Amino acid sequence: LERLYSYMIRLRLPGGLLSAKQWIALHEVTNSYTTGVIKITTRQTVQLHGILKHHIKPTIKDFNTVKLDSIAACGDVNRNVIASAHPRFSAVYEEIFSYAGKLSKLLLPKTHGYYEIWLDEEKISPELEKDELYQDRYFPRKFKIAIAIPPYNDVDVFTNDVGLIAIVENNELVGFNVSAGGGMGATHGNAETYPRLASMLGYVKKDDLFKVVYEIATTQRDFGNRSDRKLARLKYTIDRMGVDVFKKEVETRSGIPFEPEKEYALTIRHDEYGWHKNHEGLYYYTAFIETGRVYDGDKVQFKKAFYEIAKTGKTQFRFTCNQNLIISDIKPEDKDEIENILQQYGVIQATQNASPVRRNAIACVALNTCPLAFAEAQRYLPSLIDKIEDILDRYNLNNEELHVRMTGCPNGCGRPYAAEIGFVGTALGRYNIYLGADALGKRLNKLYKENLEEPEILSTLDALLKDFSANKNLNESFGDYVIRKKIV
Ligand code: SF4
Repeated sequence: LERLYSYMIRLRLPGGLLSAKQWIALHEVTNSYTTGVIKITTRQTVQLHGILKHHIKPTIKDFNTVKLDSIAACGDVNRNVIASAHPRFSAVYEEIFSYAGKLSKLLLPKTHGYYEIWLDEEKISPELEKDELYQDRYFPRKFKIAIAIPPYNDVDVFTNDVGLIAIVENNELVGFNVSAGGGMGATHGNAETYPRLASMLGYVKKDDLFKVVYEIATTQRDFGNRSDRKLARLKYTIDRMGVDVFKKEVETRSGIPFEPEKEYALTIRHDEYGWHKNHEGLYYYTAFIETGRVYDGDKVQFKKAFYEIAKTGKTQFRFTCNQNLIISDIKPEDKDEIENILQQYGVIQATQNASPVRRNAIACVALNTCPLAFAEAQRYLPSLIDKIEDILDRYNLNNEELHVRMTGCPNGCGRPYAAEIGFVGTALGRYNIYLGADALGKRLNKLYKENLEEPEILSTLDALLKDFSANKNLNESFGDYVIRKKIV
């Protein structure tokens, strides 16, 4: 007898956009073949757990019927390309957003293997599978791209291998500031590994973007460390080569010199909950989904609500990098109908009742489904937030937009090193605490204390937040405060 293997599947969804028809398929696949929970990831897509081996093929086939795939959603390739989620921020949003799909396509492996193995398609000629980008060796490690649309930094643009900041002048997209070498992963006990924010390379016109990103990827392909996977991400390549040498190499390969970076302002990182209207008069509802888990609970039935909404065919669905969901592109005449469904299943109440600290919190999956996890994250963080809320309440900090993130290991999928308070699991029930990132994703935090269990975590936070409440400057964030006071 073979063991009862179960698997996780992650979709490739550039920019995190799903049509109503695709949501219906996602819902039905989730019910048929998985644990039943739709997990929204921190990279604007979903992953489904608990798929038994013999269910993989039907799962992939069902997704394929609605033009969804999981190609390059994992592995040493360009991963899901993410983009700022909320369309209300820019009149040229759709144009900028389209770059997520185009970049994803540009860097997609050419192999037809996915279709042969999972969809029973014929083998195609090796000539057609020739891959100039990945050749016979793929990248040394995963490769991540994000597009930020100022003033929004929901994508945490500088935590990506390539971080693009859209530059809009006179309501026209003109180009992108390009940064490279961001990444969150580290390894406990290996001082050679570290999280890093991307370095700014400069500005390129929009027509030059594809060539430049492509050659950043080829430079990493050719110069990245292939003998030690722990040191293989682009951030280490750039630090080894030096930013100027790396930049020169990309310029030589692409034939496009970087111009000085253009001015931009990233002033918002959290999601804009509730109803908003864009420049065309379409409505958007951003629903808070704690730790990104879409399921039907006692108080709120997310799955039922979103399924009902999808069945109306009057909306689209957009995942955010903060693990939430935007019900999008709603015509004014359909808004009441959608609002009634959201009310009926408790989605609006759950969104309105959550405190700022809860709404900003992020957790990766960790135990019991991630094999790399040392500790809990998504199953534990909500109860820890209950206790952090009590502390905030005690010191009149209830409205503080505090950013708390937790991961079950130092790989950093929940971007804990870019949080004002980051928890990184070291063992079951134990976490390192990191403090001092800013609230906007422009400064990393630093290790404050190691291996704490919950009672020590709470007493540590109690002391820090009491002090913060008494001594903070007007509008000073907690992250800025701990840096000013030299706590880390
Ligand atoms: Fe990522 Fe580690 Fe969390 Fe697993 S436990 S999801 S590898 S951060």
